Amino acid sequence: MTPEQILSDLIKINTVNPPGNETSAAVYLKQIFDDAGISNEIIESEKGRGNFIAHLGEGSKRLLFLSHTDVVPAGADWNDNPFSGSIYDNTVHGRGAMDCKGLAAAQASAMLNLARNKTPLNGTLIFAATADEEKGGDFGVKMLLDQHPDKLRCDFAINEGAEEPVQLGSKTIFFIQVGEKGTAWSRLVTRGKACHGSIPTIGENALVKMVCSIKDLSGYKPEIILIPEVKHLLTELSKIKGFGATVSPENADELINSLGDKSLSETLRSMTRMTVSPNVISGGEKINIVPDLCQAEVDIRVLPGQDLEYVLDELRKFVSREIEIEVFNYHEPTFSTSDTDYYRLIEKATGEVAGSGVICLPYISPGATDSRYLRLAGISAYGIGHMASGYDQSVKETVHGKNERIDIPSLKLRTDFLIALAREYLA
Ligand SMILES: [Zn+2]
Repeated sequence: MTPEQILSDLIKINTVNPPGNETSAAVYLKQIFDDAGISNEIIESEKGRGNFIAHLGEGSKRLLFLSHTDVVPAGADWNDNPFSGSIYDNTVHGRGAMDCKGLAAAQASAMLNLARNKTPLNGTLIFAATADEEKGGDFGVKMLLDQHPDKLRCDFAINEGAEEPVQLGSKTIFFIQVGEKGTAWSRLVTRGKACHGSIPTIGENALVKMVCSIKDLSGYKPEIILIPEVKHLLTELSKIKGFGATVSPENADELINSLGDKSLSETLRSMTRMTVSPNVISGGEKINIVPDLCQAEVDIRVLPGQDLEYVLDELRKFVSREIEIEVFNYHEPTFSTSDTDYYRLIEKATGEVAGSGVICLPYISPGATDSRYLRLAGISAYGIGHMASGYDQSVKETVHGKNERIDIPSLKLRTDFLIALAREYLA
């Protein structure tokens, strides 16, 4: 089956999470893998929360194709029904086309192709289309690793992840996601003394204290840190831009600002430092009461190498001792080095399908995917966002937005890449 057929069918199956209902997508995949004679199973973490896993070939080398079948809610104002899966303009339309049913369809199509052609595999290719990625993976990859670790055991995994390719001058750059920043969601608390709003000087206004402390925090200038992969990425971009080959923390921002692609520049900026964004504030109950409590939630993202202690030390430089700081949700950053044969094979397979003029560069994602669970379990995981040349760049904004879609040449390129990679590694 072609990846566009599979994708169109998957989009028609509503797997908006919550509630997910991923079993319905797993049952569909089971049918097409059964028809192809590929051994497979559905593992539910809870009724309706199905994870689909298939195995092809056998042997000690193990490569995992990972994707997820749940999607985020569609929202309003689409041009088409978000669950139509309609195909026109050489494009498949609907929620999940980019994130992540498109990759699931390409991975499924690649596996079916390898089975149909009876490609000899000196190892095991595993396909896993899992539940619950969009809500943290508890019913998907996390559960599988906790309860059925053998099912996903592999040497390395290909998952969703990296930014789509960009064109810089005459070069096309494909990104390979090697790591993901961690989260250190924090709460700031200020306390004061309540009193009547008509004589505010009797009390102590917690809200005013908080606003001052957020203003202090807005002056935070994070330390610029170039982990080796990011330094390599920036150095290559610098060469393409004719900036010279030496990139350092001192000149990194100058290079980043010169790229002329806002989305790429700001993503690169986030790869070079901890980010701090106060996004929620709550305090005060009534217009005539001076508030004695105010809370703010700050979204903090950390690089590999930056731990909880680093976060607290950094915040304390800008937030006075009087303010309470609590990190209420911490996920450590995760990282798979690019200095592996796996990474080099991904580069090679990309070159085979996208042309030798394409450059692959490593990428650290500001956000997280299920790859983090694999890395924490000791498995190398790499994310791809491969797209065909000339793809419509505006599709990037449709991820978690409206009118999500993917063009058929990109689906085919991903399928061909996955086939090439499986052949290379498991030949
Ligand atoms: Zn996703």
